[in-house]
Amino acid sequence: MNAVPPAFTPAEPTVEPVASAAKPFLDELFETGVLIPSGVDGLYGRSGAFEEVIDRFETLVERHAREDGAVKIHFPPAMPRVNMEKSGYLKSFPQLAGSVHSFMGNDMDHCRLLSAIAEGTDWSQFQQPTDLVLTPAACYPLYPTVAAKGPVPADGLLFDLKSYCFRHEPSKEPTRMQFFRMRENVRIGTAEQVSDFRERWLERGPKLIRSLELPCALDVANDPFFGRGGKLMARNQRDQQLKFELLIPVNSVENPTACLSFNYHQDHFGTLWGMEREDGEKAHSACVGFGLERIALALFRQHGSDVEAWPKSVRKVLWG
Ligand code: ATP
Ligand code: ZN
Repeated sequence: MNAVPPAFTPAEPTVEPVASAAKPFLDELFETGVLIPSGVDGLYGRSGAFEEVIDRFETLVERHAREDGAVKIHFPPAMPRVNMEKSGYLKSFPQLAGSVHSFMGNDMDHCRLLSAIAEGTDWSQFQQPTDLVLTPAACYPLYPTVAAKGPVPADGLLFDLKSYCFRHEPSKEPTRMQFFRMRENVRIGTAEQVSDFRERWLERGPKLIRSLELPCALDVANDPFFGRGGKLMARNQRDQQLKFELLIPVNSVENPTACLSFNYHQDHFGTLWGMEREDGEKAHSACVGFGLERIALALFRQHGSDVEAWPKSVRKVLWG
């Protein structure tokens, strides 16, 4: 069976999309207290209501994951430095990666560190890299874990993951944060198993979002590969329809935001990490990623800052 699903035509919005606002959405979110500024673009506190919306949305996703028999794992927002090196992330997305540094000096070095801070000069020279880097996508820590467990069984594997992720892409658009959460379902197995999984979510994802009365459309997409070589990789990814995104208007109607993504990795991670099936073939993998902050922001944008005043039908889906 062909591992690549057929092309999808953008779905018609089911409700009127939000109008472009005169005031930047981020300012509105600060004023209404939905997000709390930190002084750094892309790093925000979240209100209780915002968190509750995310919790409720996650229960909807989790219901599907449970029915499918997914194994739930939550990794911390950091992973071993060596695993990022091996993953190829620094080849494709060096501009987004973040790594953890810490002070490892003696008393003399400590004095120098404090002087540098007091003088307002660069103190990063007193920080050394640790064994940790920040997790860039919820599924990255999974592949080495699966590979270490031995052959992938004939039925394949299915996981339900969640992690805070870091990407260095400071922005005034609230949908582009530096720290955000991804809920991901990941399927590992034969090309057919993972392609069936992705097709199922390509149907379910838009249904789930429309049940919350959000307009949405599926489109072919590519990852933000770095540099000149990256252009070719992005084109290949699009030509082979390896990535789809579910777009929802958040910042503007003209440029809707990717809130869910559906990625087919072929046997890329299988080969990279040595994930093999029982028959000795390299395992294929696919993931569906829910950008939890983006989905919550889409809901606040569409239905307003007061959760109590959201349409009853939407509240019913979320709160039951
Ligand atoms: P984009 O093209 O918008 O940069 P992406 O294609 O790199 O996103 P993925 O790697 O597919 O994103 O990440 C999975 C999901 O995580 C996305 O569909 C999106 O909802 C969410 N996401 C990605 N980057 C951010 C970010 N900077 N802030 C908030 N959510 C994000
Ligand atoms: Zn993934």
